[in-house]
Amino acid sequence: MKKILIGTHNQGKFKEIAYLIKKKIKKVSPISLQIKSPKETGKTFNSNSKLKAKYFSKFVNYPVISDDSGLCIRSLKNKPGIYSARLAQKKGNFYKAMKYILIKMKNKKDRSAYFVCSLTFKEPKKRTVTVLGKIHGTISKIIIGKKGFGYDPIFIPKNKKKTFGEIPKLKKIMMDHRYLAFKKLKKKINI
Ligand code: IMP
Repeated sequence: MKKILIGTHNQGKFKEIAYLIKKKIKKVSPISLQIKSPKETGKTFNSNSKLKAKYFSKFVNYPVISDDSGLCIRSLKNKPGIYSARLAQKKGNFYKAMKYILIKMKNKKDRSAYFVCSLTFKEPKKRTVTVLGKIHGTISKIIIGKKGFGYDPIFIPKNKKKTFGEIPKLKKIMMDHRYLAFKKLKKKINI
């Protein structure tokens, strides 16, 4: 494998996935090829990551990797879940979405949550592989930390005292849901 298209317009996700893939493989962004994102019509993380891989692979003749991920909060019926990006859009930005979540959780005793990531790897005219990674933790009481992206400043991974927003970037990349999914993918594909 010489080249791979990382099928995401989210810079935070792009950087994390690119970091995990072997150095010698050239990582291409859909932004540089002026490819728009597809509509996320799936009802699950897996169906959305498969749909994205299928869509992006129409534009290139080399492998594609795509991700669908989100934050699931138990006391909010596992929301925002697959709607994590859309909630931030609806509220205006991630800071407003996090504030909205913290207000909703003000009187909730159960603050448990998990980040989930479905990764799909698709090779032209060959196999498609989908794997799922999950990291459990809790939702903090305040928005804290300027590192990372998205909902990082309100998620405290299990056995840690700091949010993903406070944990050094490389440390977060090597422990999160994307990394856990990637580890599974690496067992099946030389990437
Ligand atoms: P989608 O996969 O494009 O639907 O977007 C998933 C959304 O979930 C992202 O826009 C982020 O808001 C959130 N998300 C996924 N992974 C992470 C992460 O590692 N940290 C923080 N937020 C994340």
